Amino acid sequence: MPASMTPRGALEEVNAFHDELVFADEAEPATLGLTRAAWRVLVVDDDADVHSTTTFALGNVEMQGRPLSFLHAYSASEAFELLRREPDVAVLLLDVVMESSDAGLSLVRRIREELGLRDLRIILRTGQPGYAPEMEAIRGYDINDYRTKSELTRTKLYTAVAAAIRSYQQIRALDDNRLGLERVVAASAELMALHGLRDVALGILNQVGLLLGQPAEGLLCVRETGHAHPDILRTVAAVGACRHLDGRELNVARGGPLAAAVERTLLNRRCAIGDGLLSLYFPGKAGRDFVACVPLERELDEHENRLLQVFAGMVTISLDNVELVTHLNQAAFHDPLTGLPNRTRLVELIDATLALPTRAQAILALVDLDHFAETNDALGHHFGDLLLVAVGRRLQSKLDPGLHVARIGGDIFCVLGEAGAVQPAPIQALFREPFHIDGQDVQVSATLGLVRLGEHDGAGADALKDADIALKRAKSQQRAGHFYFSRSMGVEIRERVRMMHALRGGFQRNQLFLAYQPQVDLLSNRPFGAEALLRWRTEDGRLVPPDRFIPIAEYSGLIVDIGEWVLRQACAELMRLRAAGHTAFTMSVNVSQVQFRHPHFLDMLRRALDDTGAPPEFIELEITESMAMEEPALLVEKLAQVKRTGVSIAIDDFGTGFSSLSHLQRLQVDRLKIDRAFVTEITGSARGSSIAEMVIQLGRNLGLSVIAEGVEDERQAQILRQLGCPLAQGFLYSRPLSPEDLLAWLADRALHQAA
Ligand code: C2E
Ligand code: CA
Ligand code: CA
Repeated sequence: MPASMTPRGALEEVNAFHDELVFADEAEPATLGLTRAAWRVLVVDDDADVHSTTTFALGNVEMQGRPLSFLHAYSASEAFELLRREPDVAVLLLDVVMESSDAGLSLVRRIREELGLRDLRIILRTGQPGYAPEMEAIRGYDINDYRTKSELTRTKLYTAVAAAIRSYQQIRALDDNRLGLERVVAASAELMALHGLRDVALGILNQVGLLLGQPAEGLLCVRETGHAHPDILRTVAAVGACRHLDGRELNVARGGPLAAAVERTLLNRRCAIGDGLLSLYFPGKAGRDFVACVPLERELDEHENRLLQVFAGMVTISLDNVELVTHLNQAAFHDPLTGLPNRTRLVELIDATLALPTRAQAILALVDLDHFAETNDALGHHFGDLLLVAVGRRLQSKLDPGLHVARIGGDIFCVLGEAGAVQPAPIQALFREPFHIDGQDVQVSATLGLVRLGEHDGAGADALKDADIALKRAKSQQRAGHFYFSRSMGVEIRERVRMMHALRGGFQRNQLFLAYQPQVDLLSNRPFGAEALLRWRTEDGRLVPPDRFIPIAEYSGLIVDIGEWVLRQACAELMRLRAAGHTAFTMSVNVSQVQFRHPHFLDMLRRALDDTGAPPEFIELEITESMAMEEPALLVEKLAQVKRTGVSIAIDDFGTGFSSLSHLQRLQVDRLKIDRAFVTEITGSARGSSIAEMVIQLGRNLGLSVIAEGVEDERQAQILRQLGCPLAQGFLYSRPLSPEDLLAWLADRALHQAA
């Protein structure tokens, strides 16, 4: 590896770690494993006797703890071929004169230059002193020793070979050091390039194997000491025979001696060798310590020992890095409360799903907890947090593990995956069992908005918006229901957004006004009041029907301001009518649920009455029946407060909802308004079977006033009269009128009545 590629910073840090990394069982210096091979000595001589005397002289000796083994060649060319095949020879005992007078020397040159064998030690032997080579050659070719054969007694031969072997060993150790360091540096560079913790862990096991010259084998585990996981040991990666421990919790029951070695290493906080296992300790930051444990059947020499220490230092840095990156990732892409992917990550996951050929089968489902805000307010935020965590866990553990579960904000979770597994019924079924939190059982339900990704043609972020639209629709219809997004909904939504902007502008530019529809006494035909109905004429003179713009005003919250304006306008009109002499006249004003629920509604009402001077007993508020059904306890209290201001309450569109009798009684309302649909059907149905008739009876039994709305013809009026309905409103009497027209209409009526 060229020096420029060395990670300098890493090396400097390694030095800092060096002192901490002390091996518990320091191997004896230079103690080499018994399994190490013998020193190989090659005897090259054309005289067969020299071969036998050499092996006889050195056959049973040991040098540096290892025996000698002999190879034989009888010519320079034979020796050359042999060395080409067998490079691992320590010492060459070489005859100078063989096939030619310089055969030995030229063999030395070829060994060094052609074969590149620089470590091999060479002892030259010659029969005749006169054939001594030049000192030049001896130095140039790195020849260890030069002796005449007669000089080489057995002892001297032993000494010469022993010296050669010692020097061979030193040379090899230097080489190993260089190679080993290069390998450690390369290993750490490779580890730095890896990202996930698991990849780094596998990389470490591989590199330890390479450094020890054995196949990758063993495991790497982490101990987390956060109070959330008291001392749990988890295997990050495991290869070879202990593969089955991969990704699992590690304990002595499951990991046997491996687990015991890991525990011991964590306790002593240092690397250790024993019981055929090598344990490397990597102290992590933030209470996460790592241990690698690999089988090692031999002892380590000092050189390997030192290399592993350097390696462990490097690994510690790699692990810190990956932990840091993981942590950053975690923060950027995960919800800190539940640990689930957050919105950013989810959008990535949707994008990835959209890129798959199987996207047609994928579904995105938003899961919104019903009434979570109330739970949170009632039981506290800590409790709410625990509930969210529990919901996240349940979704993750009970649904198909191939699905993605995310939390994208507040009480909204998301499930993404294959259509077969992402279905409303099984997801909602998960909420049937209560959640056990802080010793309490809490029951929550969820509403779902779904998008079939196969039908979606935008990016991930758009799919999420569509799911949100579907969710809103589902919530507007019923709690614990679900809704699939359809393309028409998207168009509709865009239209609604457009209209919302137009309405806001129109309201500011006085495009809104009220029309007043008279209400009459069915028996006397006398008008007694009017309902104020909102109108919107846009710039181009077009009238937008209230059924279209009022839901948008409600949805956008605009209704709060508009509704206040309507109330004040209607009160003011009542005052003008009173001033014109209609002092017993009542004014009905529609109030939508959003308005009514607004915390300042009561103040707003009181101020409107005060400011306009309208007498409350001549003001009636109309609330819809569906609204009267919502959250009974809250409503009862609020209605009671409203009534204390002196205004009266009518239930609009009565008969379309599901009010129970007892519920109605508790609400303290004054009047029921029979929905137009039931007035329309009245002429077709047999006496005694119509809903209108039942409402009239109900009113009588409860002592409530009843008014029929949408009366269009005289027959309807007649039947209603026969059924005992006292009051009516409808086109039969008048369409909604402008204030001037209403005054004119009233004057006209008074004339007729008088006549
Ligand atoms: P609603 O409160 O049920 O009002 C009665 C609706 O029936 C009015 O429609 C009225 O014009 C219509 N109507 C009256 N008599 C007849 C009849 O004989 N035949 C037929 N076919 N229709 C008749 P409009 O004015 O279009 O209002 C529609 C709805 O808009 C109202 O229903 C009410 O829910 C809402 N709305 C109107 N003004 C306001 C308001 O100021 N505030 C709120 N929150 N809602 C309002
Ligand atoms: Ca009404
Ligand atoms: Ca109505």
